[in-house]
Amino acid sequence: MTIPRPHAQNNTKNPSGTALAPRSLGVALAVTAALLLSLPGGARAEPTYSFDTTPGKLPKTVIPVHYQIELTPDLASLKLAGMEVVDIEVREPTARLILNAVEMTLDAASIDGDAGRADIALDAASETATLSFAKPLAAGAHRLRIGFVAKINKFDRGLFFVDYPTDTGTKRMLSSQLEPADARRIFPCWDEPAFKATFTLTVTVPQAFLAVGNMPITREEPIGPDLKRVAFAPTPKMSSYLFVFTTGELERLTGDADGVTVGVVTTLGKREQGRFALDNAVKLLAYYNDYFGTKYPLPKLDLIAVPGGFGGAMENWGGITFFESRLLFDPSSNAETAQRGIFSVLAHEMAHQWFGDLVTMGWWDNLWLNEGFASWMQEKAAEHFYPQWRTWLNGYGQKQYAMMLDARRTSHPIQQPVADQSEAMTAFDGITYNKGQAFIRMLESYLGEQAFGDGIRKYMAAHAYGNTTTADLWQALESAAGKPVTGIAASFTEQDGVPLISAETHCSGNEQRMTLHQDRFMIVPGAARATPPSPRAWQVPVAIGPVAETSPAKVLLLEGNAEIPAGTCGEAIKVNLGDVGYFRVEYGPSSRAALVKSLALMTPEDRVNFIADSWAMVQAGRAEAPSYLALIEDIRSDDHRAVWDQVISTLTALDWLERGRPERPALQAYGRARLRPVFDRLGWDAGNANDEQALLRSRLITTLGEFGDSDILAEAKKRFAGFLDNPASLPTALRDPVTHLVGMSADRPSYDTLLALARRSTLTNERVRYYYAAAGALDPTLARATLALTLTDELPNTIVGGVINAVASSGEQPDLAWDFVQENFNALATRLGPSFADEFIAHLMTNFSDDAHAAELKNFGPAQATSGGRVTTARALETIAISADLKTRALPAVDAWIKAHNGARP
Ligand SMILES: [Zn+2]
Repeated sequence: MTIPRPHAQNNTKNPSGTALAPRSLGVALAVTAALLLSLPGGARAEPTYSFDTTPGKLPKTVIPVHYQIELTPDLASLKLAGMEVVDIEVREPTARLILNAVEMTLDAASIDGDAGRADIALDAASETATLSFAKPLAAGAHRLRIGFVAKINKFDRGLFFVDYPTDTGTKRMLSSQLEPADARRIFPCWDEPAFKATFTLTVTVPQAFLAVGNMPITREEPIGPDLKRVAFAPTPKMSSYLFVFTTGELERLTGDADGVTVGVVTTLGKREQGRFALDNAVKLLAYYNDYFGTKYPLPKLDLIAVPGGFGGAMENWGGITFFESRLLFDPSSNAETAQRGIFSVLAHEMAHQWFGDLVTMGWWDNLWLNEGFASWMQEKAAEHFYPQWRTWLNGYGQKQYAMMLDARRTSHPIQQPVADQSEAMTAFDGITYNKGQAFIRMLESYLGEQAFGDGIRKYMAAHAYGNTTTADLWQALESAAGKPVTGIAASFTEQDGVPLISAETHCSGNEQRMTLHQDRFMIVPGAARATPPSPRAWQVPVAIGPVAETSPAKVLLLEGNAEIPAGTCGEAIKVNLGDVGYFRVEYGPSSRAALVKSLALMTPEDRVNFIADSWAMVQAGRAEAPSYLALIEDIRSDDHRAVWDQVISTLTALDWLERGRPERPALQAYGRARLRPVFDRLGWDAGNANDEQALLRSRLITTLGEFGDSDILAEAKKRFAGFLDNPASLPTALRDPVTHLVGMSADRPSYDTLLALARRSTLTNERVRYYYAAAGALDPTLARATLALTLTDELPNTIVGGVINAVASSGEQPDLAWDFVQENFNALATRLGPSFADEFIAHLMTNFSDDAHAAELKNFGPAQATSGGRVTTARALETIAISADLKTRALPAVDAWIKAHNGARP
C-alpha cells in the first residue's frame, strides 16, 4: 500500500512532523567488507514461519480452501447483497466455525447442503461471526454456504462508492480497499493473511459498467434489460486483503508484457492519460520477472484509476488501485516532473505483486518487510530506468523523516507486535516504510547487489503462494551471500532507535587516526530528559573514507567502539560516505573543522548527509543552532537541488516555529536573502532548464512567496491572471507554485476564482491543486469558508483531511481548524470513517507547539477510543512537546544570530 500524503504544496511545516521530501539515485556504495570488528551474536527471538504459531485471532482448526463469491451491489441503496460457498478443511472435529464479518447481516448459513443449518452470532467488537452447528463437523473437507447483506461505504473501507464529476454530470462508481483487515466488510471470511485461499468472483452490475477483479473475465451474460452478470476466473492462492472489485463506467487501455495483458482502467474519456503508466508498467513487469526470478503468475495486471474515495494506492493482486492523480498523467495539466511520483508509486505497487502478494507476511508484525522492501524496490527501479532522476539523492528526506520519528520515545521497532486491526493501521507509518527502506538499502550495500538479488530469488522460489517471517528472508540472504545477516538485521528491526556514531580524528606525527564511539541518538523534550533512555547496541555497517576520493569506501561492521587509521594529519574523513547508512554522525571539533573546509569537495550525497546530521544535532540539543546556520552560509547558489531542499526544509521549519513571535519577520528576511540569489540564477522561465532545475525553481517560488518576497508574489499574481486569459501561457511546471501563492494571498474574488476552477475541472490533479490553493488562504474569513466546504459533498473525501490540515498549517491560526473539527466531529467522523478519530485528530494537533493544546488533545476522548488511536495520540503529544522544546531552546540563538547577520548584510 502507498499511504496518502499531504499535497506537495501543503506539507505540514512542523519541523517535528514534516512530510516526506520528494523521492529520487544515488551512488551505490562499494563495499569492501574490510574490518570485521565483531561477529554477530544478537539473540534472535523470531523463528521462521509456521501456520500454527503465527499470531492472529482466529482459531486455526478450520482453513478456507476456496471461496466462490457472488455480489450484487445496489448503487442507490448502497446495500451489497452476497452469497458465498466456501470449501473448507476442518483439521479437527468442531461444532463451531469462527470467521470474520463486520457491519453486515448474515441471513443463512449451512454446511454440506442443507444437512446442518447454523446458529449465527455476530460480535461487533471482535469483528467475527460464530456459526454453531447441532453436531460437530468431522475432520476433512466441507462446503459452507452463507447468504449476507453488507454495506457500500462512503469511506475507504471494504467496498466504497465514489461520486465524481464528468462533462455529463456526476457519476457513481464502486471500488474496494481491504488492507489490512476489511475484506470482512464485503464477505464473511478468514480475514488474516495466513489463511490463503483461492477466490472465484461473480458480480451483477449495470450493463454499461465495466467490472474489474483480480482475474480476467470468463463470462458475461445479460440479466434483464439493465443488468449483467460477470464471472471472473479463479485466483491463485492468496490472502483475503488482496481481493479487489471495481466497477463503473470505465474504459481500459491495454498492452502486452511477456504474455501478460497490462491494462490501465480509467473513467470514460481519460484512457489516454494512462499511457505513461502503461508504458512503464510493461517495462517494470519484464524487469521484475527478471529480478525476482519467478514470473508474474497472473494472466493480467490492471492499474485502476479511482477518482476519489481513497488517497493512496493498493497492491491488490492483478488489480492495483490508485487515487487517480497518482496514476494518470495529462501533459496539458501535469508538470513533466509528476512522472517521477507516478513511476514511484507504480514501481512500489508492482513490486508488491511478488513481495507481499506472491509471498506474504504471516501476520502484521512483519508488515515492515512488505513495505520496506517495496519502498526500496521503487527507488531501485527508478534508478535503473531513469538514472537522471538521481532518485536516492533527491529522496534523501525519506530516511531523514524515519530517523526523526525513530529518535523519539514513542518510536517502535519496525518489527513489532500487532494486537488487532486498529493497531495494524498504525503500523503503516513513516518508520515502517522509510526505516524499512533505508535498512534494506544498507543491507543490500553491505551484502553486495548480486548476492542480495540471489537471496531474494531463492526466497521467492521457496515461499511462492505461501507466508513468511523476516527470519525466512535472512536465511535466504545468508545462504546466498555467505555473510551473517541475522545479527545486523535483528539490531535494526527488532529494536527501535537510531544509532549515533561519534567520530573524532587525532594526529600522531603525520598520521591521523579516527575513533568511533557508538551510542543512541535521541530527541527528547525538556523535562523528559531527566529520565535517561534505555541504552541500545547495534551492529552497524559504516562506510568511511576521505571526502574527495572516488575509490571504494572502507566498510566496517561497528559494534561498540573502534579506532582506525584515517590518512594523513588534517585530512577530511567522512563517516557514512554516500549517505547509505541508517545512523547519525556527530563529529568532534577537529574532524568537523576539516569537513567544513571540504564541504564543496563532497559529493552532493555527502553534503546533504553532513548538513542534515548537523541540523539533527541541533534538534537533539547536542549542538547550537548557529553551527548549522554558519554551515549553510557556505552552500553555493548552484548546488544540487537536494542540498537546497534540505536548507529550505530547515528554514521553513524555523519559520513555522516563529509563528506569532515578533522575530518572525527577521527570520523571513534572512530566508529571502539566502534563497533569492538561488532563484535569480534560475529565473522564472524554463529556458534550457532540466527537470532538476524546474523542481528547485518551483520549491523556491513557493518558499520565497511564503517568506513574503513581494516581487515573487506580484509576479505569481500576474502570471495567474495571464493563465486565466490563456491557460497555455502558464507552463505546467509553474502551476502548482503560482496557484499556491495566489491562494495564500487571496482576497474574496480570487478565492472564488480558485473554487470556480476546481468546480469546473473533471481532472483530479487539477481539482486537488485548486482546492488546496484555496485552503492555503491566510484571510481567516476565507479559511472559515474552506472549512465549511468540508461538510458538503463538494470535495472528494480523499482530500477532506488534507484540506482541513492545510487550513491549520497555513496561517497563524491553527485554532480555526481545531475548533471547527471539535464542533463538527460527528459529521466528519461519519464521513471519513474510523481513521478520522484514530489518526487524523492526532495528526491535526501537531500543528500546535504548546502545552495547552497538548492538554486539549489529551482530553479529547474520541481520539483515544481505540488502541490505534492511543498510539497515534501518544506520538502526537511527543511531537508537540518536541516542537515546544525546540522553540524555547533553539529560537533565541537563531534570532540572535540572524539579527547579527541581517545587520551585517550590505
Ligand atoms: Zn506498499
